[in-house]
Amino acid sequence: MSYETELKAAVRAVVNASRLCMNVQSALVSAESMTKKDKSPVTVADFGAQAIICGELVKAFPDIPIAGEEDSAELRTPEGDALSAQVLEYVSAVAPGATADGILGAIDSGNYDGGAAGRFWTLDPIDGTKGFLRGEQYAVALALIEDGEVVLGVLGCPNLPLDLGDPARGAGCLLTAVKGGGAYMQPLDGGEAVRISVSGISDPSLAPICESVESAHSSHDESGRVAEILGVSVPPLRIDSQCKYAVIARGDASIYLRLPTRKDYMEKIWDHAAGSLIVEEAGGKVTDVAGKKLDFSRGRTLAGNSGVIGTNGLVHDSVLAAVKEVIGG
Ligand code: AMP
Ligand code: MG
Repeated sequence: MSYETELKAAVRAVVNASRLCMNVQSALVSAESMTKKDKSPVTVADFGAQAIICGELVKAFPDIPIAGEEDSAELRTPEGDALSAQVLEYVSAVAPGATADGILGAIDSGNYDGGAAGRFWTLDPIDGTKGFLRGEQYAVALALIEDGEVVLGVLGCPNLPLDLGDPARGAGCLLTAVKGGGAYMQPLDGGEAVRISVSGISDPSLAPICESVESAHSSHDESGRVAEILGVSVPPLRIDSQCKYAVIARGDASIYLRLPTRKDYMEKIWDHAAGSLIVEEAGGKVTDVAGKKLDFSRGRTLAGNSGVIGTNGLVHDSVLAAVKEVIGG
């Protein structure tokens, strides 16, 4: 299948939601009145982005359910009135004619539980909320899952440089992939889509590593030991969100390590669906720390997996062996 209609609608929705996030980030995150601990900008953008994307998808594909990260419970409380007003203001700027009720309904259409049968969308309206609040990297992540397999992925990365080696080219990337059709990148504000591919590095010691900024999301100590075993001497590239999959897919880094910090943590499907397909379609490989394929058929979490390893494919086995040596198993 070509998924042409689905891809077009998904791209439009992600671009519109990314625009909302950029508006919120420039107006609120940099505001002097904001204290470091204030989480409200990310809340406004999270709800706003989910409202935009779910609203557009439900209209275009009324029969495809959506498993999104957010629900509207907080907005429906009396204390949520001020927040709702802000969400309405930002949504209206990119979707004129929006209403408060329409927004609540759209957000709640993302309540699907996922599973093994049929098609559904999965959405992280803002992946990398910590990065968003720091004014750094975050992503709007949308994927289509069909009978447990990711078949389409779109990542909006508003702050990701188009070329890490040439800042003059500016920032704002849109990455897309359709199963069997390759991975592509284009400027988020429009322009030609260019096919991307992973690095061709086959010597693991020359393969740059990327990982979370947050050591609570992936063990930095253990990744340091993996790097030592592999002989990787360049320091890791630390980036928030699925922008990590983006930099692997276009060859800026060759190894993405997400090493569990807690035994009981289950990865969420919306944190990996779009990014993992984009890496695979760029020629790379994505598994969990034990080398198992990510299983998107288990509901809203990757209940059958632990951690994530993404690579250019060529160094995958060496990385898995080093990870095994460090974390056991
Ligand atoms: P990152 O930006 O790659 O550090 O990942 C951000 C995502 O980490 C968020 O969307 C959360 O869903 C997820 N997350 C939260 N707690 C954990 C944890 N203990 N281990 C792994 N991921 C987590
Ligand atoms: Mg997330």
